[in-house]
Amino acid sequence: MKGEVHSHLEKNIRPYIDLIDTLRSIGIHKDLALPTIAVIGDQSSGKSSVLEALSGIALPRGSAQNELAGIGPGICDELITLEVMSPDVCDLTLIDLPGIARVPVKGQPDDIGEQIKCLIMKYIEKQETMNLVVVPCNTDIATTEALRMAQGVDPDGIRTVGILTKPDLIDRGTETKILEVVQNKIIPLRKGYIMVKCRGQQQINDKISLEKATEIERDFFEKHNFFRGLLNEDKATIKSLAIKLTQELVEHIKKSLPQLNEHIKKQLWDLRNELKKCEDGPPQDPKGAKQFLTEALTRFIDQIKSVSSGELIVKDNVFVQLRVEYKKWNTHLFYKLIEERIECSQHYRGRELLGFSNFRIFEDVLQKQVATLRKPAIDLLNIIKDIILNQFTDVVNQCFQNYPALLDITMDKIHNIQSVQQEKLEQRISEQFDMENMIFTQDPIYLKSLNETTKETFSEDELPIFDKKSKYFDMLQAYYEIVVQRMSDQLPMMMTLFMLKQTAQLLSTDMLSLLDGANVSELLFESSDVGRKRRDLQARLDRMSIGHIHCCGFAEAVIRLALSALVGVAAVAVLVYDIRSRRLQQKRQQTSPSSSD
Ligand code: GDP
Ligand code: MG
Repeated sequence: MKGEVHSHLEKNIRPYIDLIDTLRSIGIHKDLALPTIAVIGDQSSGKSSVLEALSGIALPRGSAQNELAGIGPGICDELITLEVMSPDVCDLTLIDLPGIARVPVKGQPDDIGEQIKCLIMKYIEKQETMNLVVVPCNTDIATTEALRMAQGVDPDGIRTVGILTKPDLIDRGTETKILEVVQNKIIPLRKGYIMVKCRGQQQINDKISLEKATEIERDFFEKHNFFRGLLNEDKATIKSLAIKLTQELVEHIKKSLPQLNEHIKKQLWDLRNELKKCEDGPPQDPKGAKQFLTEALTRFIDQIKSVSSGELIVKDNVFVQLRVEYKKWNTHLFYKLIEERIECSQHYRGRELLGFSNFRIFEDVLQKQVATLRKPAIDLLNIIKDIILNQFTDVVNQCFQNYPALLDITMDKIHNIQSVQQEKLEQRISEQFDMENMIFTQDPIYLKSLNETTKETFSEDELPIFDKKSKYFDMLQAYYEIVVQRMSDQLPMMMTLFMLKQTAQLLSTDMLSLLDGANVSELLFESSDVGRKRRDLQARLDRMSIGHIHCCGFAEAVIRLALSALVGVAAVAVLVYDIRSRRLQQKRQQTSPSSSD
């Protein structure tokens, strides 16, 4: 059984046919959309018949089809691939696409028509796809949905071919109208139309062979009063279609090549980068593994150090984030002062008679005031801890993403060190507040602050005149300014020291201790994903590299037919064809110098 495409291809690209296996093993199509042909049309428009005639292979219909696509009214998302290999036909890959229905039948979702259109769209919108639109002659071509869809994705019609089927079933009197369509006068397509006559249902039932059907088709056109002329214009018969298709394929591939080449180059670049990220796995021998671990730990420690020293001049480095929080703390301290001044003026008076002063009032107000800062201070500490934890976690992920055991151990270490440091720091902060409770500053410092607050220039001797309640607000403010200055610097400094510097230092030391007696292979145990990912990337890289070589030369096409299954109405068929390069051809010629080409 030989189809027209088959015999045509035999003649034209026979030199390449035996390279199909090479191409398939390259598997480029897994990474890139290759030039493809999609056959679209309404239910029973004749898609399967056209494909059968082209390929010379009787396609599964009905219950064969159900086996492939599964029984059920819905559509399945996965492609079902069936590879047909036979010495009699060119290699075919039949892709059984989920079927679709325009009017839902029982059990089908209401939007099945939409689902199908989406699926078809997925194929026909790709620039790499050439669209064959199958339209029966006995329908109104202008209202054909498939044609409308193809025009939607290819308004200039550069990758759309029209196929008119069932010319034997037209109503008498419509012949001229149909001729005008084939002659591209009604709905013009750049690539035009071809009319074909396939086996009717009765002929299928009568088991008329595809070969015989070709003869019948030829006969039909030769004897047809109106369509006879189409034969000379190469606008009729499956054979003309096959020739046109082959030409178009090669043209299409040639046109797609530069873009395909670009894609391949880009993917090569991306893959190499990704592979770099996966880096080489650790060596198997113990000595090499230990060396590998030492290097990995050193890299990690270096990074932690540069984070903690603020050397990483990048956006959002840890000091940028800390400074934001420290500034908020400073603002908070000042804000508290203003609030307290008002309260003090209204409510504070002890047991003293009017006019007497009392240092206790002063102390009291300040002690209460300072006490309100304890909680915000601890809140600040928690925020700072999280910022630093995030930064360290980033470094850990960056350095150890491929080694889950090492990653976990390191994260544990960070958590442990942080919680010990936090506990120590909370103790120190608490002591700081206890000290602030004492209300103390050196006389010259206080005097300076008081003068600044009141904008006067008192000497130490003059100060007793100040011991009046009415002046307490100024005195309070002068002292609180000093508290603010102390706390505003002191706490951030402690936090940076304890939570960042010391933590980084302790972590570094702790990490190095991993080298002593640790089970190196356990630490360097790779997550199964990584090994797999690396292998996968490498395979893709190899494929791409070969593909790149192929693409650099002239490409030829070998057709793979793909066709859709029908659960409902319309169907998509895809002819996937592969490309091969002049280089491969040359290579082949070199290896078999006897072949004449
Ligand atoms: P599909 O649903 O688009 O795949 O359409 P099919 O290829 O299954 O064809 C539907 C019916 O139309 C089948 O019974 C075919 O035998 C018949 N058919 C297809 N092409 C022709 C044709 O050119 N002439 C006649 N008379 N019948 C055809
Ligand atoms: Mg069909």
